Amino acid sequence: MKITAEIEGYIASREGEFLELLKTLAKIPAPSNHEEKRAAFIKDWLRKNGAQGVYIDGALNVVYPVNLGAENRLRVFMAHTDVVFPDTEELPLRVSGGKIFAPGVGDDTANLVALLFAAKFIAEKGLTPAEGRGVLLVANSGEEGLGNLRGARKICGDFGGRIDEFVSFDGVYSHMTCSAVGSRRFKITLRAEGGHSWGNFGNKSAVLELAELIVSLRDIKLPRKGKTTWNCGVISGGASVNTIAQSAEMLYEFRSDRGENLLLMQERLEDALDACRDRGVRVDCVLAGERPCASGVDSLGQRRLTERCRGAVRDWAGVDAQLEAASTDSNVPLSLGIPAVTLGCYAGGGAHTREEWVDTESLKAGYRIAFDVILDSF
Ligand SMILES: [Zn+2]
Repeated sequence: MKITAEIEGYIASREGEFLELLKTLAKIPAPSNHEEKRAAFIKDWLRKNGAQGVYIDGALNVVYPVNLGAENRLRVFMAHTDVVFPDTEELPLRVSGGKIFAPGVGDDTANLVALLFAAKFIAEKGLTPAEGRGVLLVANSGEEGLGNLRGARKICGDFGGRIDEFVSFDGVYSHMTCSAVGSRRFKITLRAEGGHSWGNFGNKSAVLELAELIVSLRDIKLPRKGKTTWNCGVISGGASVNTIAQSAEMLYEFRSDRGENLLLMQERLEDALDACRDRGVRVDCVLAGERPCASGVDSLGQRRLTERCRGAVRDWAGVDAQLEAASTDSNVPLSLGIPAVTLGCYAGGGAHTREEWVDTESLKAGYRIAFDVILDSF
């Protein structure tokens, strides 16, 4: 279905309503793995707007299935509900100078609202996808950080074999993701003898050992092919200024756009941890998150989907979206060989900061991008 003048009129007459929905939703806290409040709100909202069969699954995804049938091939459209900040109280929001400011207002609430706008249209008009096709519209959980793509994994686990295409609305419309950056994230804890800083001077310190470990990880020679990065994002440990630390820990990750590089980095990490053990340090390394790289995706199908999404952004926002590899919900379908694209429906900035903002005017193009990409299946 193309965006006709009638559909344009439908969107134009309801933009105010959806701006209000964005302001309401953006205030509802939704830390990764605790998206209950947003999920409940969205489920009620969809039902009130005529969507049938809406449910919340075991991963806190809100799922609106359209014409699934028993065997229909499926297209999935999702936008995530979770926000990077741990707030459990109402998130602060302010409007100023044509912008809306709130943590998570763009990433991913603006995209979520665009998805819900199209969902309302589909429900109100009683649209059915083409013969043999079903559509899943999903407000998904767990995209950010240690959410570990929980929502996308659940959808692919429940429906994977039937999914032909997967679109995630995430980020700004000037950038689009059509390949996956895989990653592994670890919580590494070191334990050493410790003791009194004066009386036991010379005993092994977990803090010092952690510093040594970080330096040895820094000195790892990165694989030459593709792009590979690492980060030690958080460190903590020790007890007091006059105590030789008995315990210290860090959060460490590496990323790559190639699966074989993840394996190489894993080997080198294990070598560095073994060197710690050889110095008599106790090492605990727990995998805290894992995002897969792409594997066996049909290149023609991927190109078609990418071009369709790029065309929609070009037509409505007048920009050529820059294609890049990133770590998004699309990692999961891409790792299963399902063509997938992550694209955005707004312009803004400050993602993952408390000063995040959305350009209110840009939402007009954004709603039309979402309608264009989703209604193509009807
Ligand atoms: Zn996001």
